Amino acid sequence: MADKLSIGIDIGGTKIAAGVVDEDGHVVARVRRETPTSSATDVLDAIAAVTEEFVRDHHIRSIGIGAAGFVDASQSTVVFSPHLAWRHEPLRDAAARRTGLPVLVDNDANCAGWAEYRFGAAQNQSDLVLITLGTGIGGAIVLDGQPYRGQFGIAGEFGHMQVVPGGLDCECGNSGCWEQYASGRVLMRRAIAEADAGSALGQQFLEMAGHRDRIGGWQVTEAANAGNEECREWIAEVGDWLGVGIANLAAALDPGIFVIGGGVSDAGELLIAPARAAFARTLTGRGYRNEARITRAHLGADAGMIGAADMARLAAKRRRPGQPGARARVRKATRTTPSMRPVARTVPKTTTRAASRRRRTS
Ligand SMILES: [Zn+2]
Repeated sequence: MADKLSIGIDIGGTKIAAGVVDEDGHVVARVRRETPTSSATDVLDAIAAVTEEFVRDHHIRSIGIGAAGFVDASQSTVVFSPHLAWRHEPLRDAAARRTGLPVLVDNDANCAGWAEYRFGAAQNQSDLVLITLGTGIGGAIVLDGQPYRGQFGIAGEFGHMQVVPGGLDCECGNSGCWEQYASGRVLMRRAIAEADAGSALGQQFLEMAGHRDRIGGWQVTEAANAGNEECREWIAEVGDWLGVGIANLAAALDPGIFVIGGGVSDAGELLIAPARAAFARTLTGRGYRNEARITRAHLGADAGMIGAADMARLAAKRRRPGQPGARARVRKATRTTPSMRPVARTVPKTTTRAASRRRRTS
């Protein structure tokens, strides 16, 4: 048991969530810190500090880091992070040197998608798409039981698919991006407009947030969950746009399940029911094809941490084939990873032997 623990560290734009995670995806210890946004060295210090804290009480074998940014396909370098100081930051090797443990780095959404696949809403599915609705839209893809990162490591940035040509301006420089219509930003925009207009609802948002600058989508979600009709309508509208985008993703990827995570998913069925309706209305070939399920994520804010830890644990296990229990897992992995060496090596060998036998007998 002690051998099967790994640390998951989810580094977001404002918070670092770190935990010790066992092989069943249970978090057995956790800490939270503010993310130092000024320098990459400060983030490294924070990683080293939480690791030091955890190794005191737990036998840790590996560390997985989920980073809010573009991570290269070799899971070692954060190429770019919009909210943090990382620019081509070789985070994996730097963190491994500081902690003395094997480290794996992946995009935070990829980690969350992996966690939902292994332990959450998408267990027993082979193909899933995770859509995280926060201020923007992020996401992850698992295809045939493997995380799909794309050739350059950037797959799953769904938020910037254009859904309205010539539509609302987006921070990315384009216009009409999906996240301008189907994310927490939409709710935030509306809430701020209400506050500025001085309506009773706007006053309520101001009181909940404490300050205009702290008004966000979560106040709308909270008010909607408490029964406010206007907020429910705004969330239904976001859900409608969500379903339209999901139909596009289904046309491209055809997964069995769409898992909706992120803060806006706290609205539950207020969001998901309209998304399902719009999906059913928009899906190509509707009525003549199997339709993917749309469901809420199960692991909440822990998903990134759990997925990062699990990826790191599995990677460390593959590096130590002598470990008890490793063989079964490695074998299983080779079935779905045609590029892995054991399969590639045995196939040509058998062919060669059969060919030479054929040569000898003829
Ligand atoms: Zn955009």
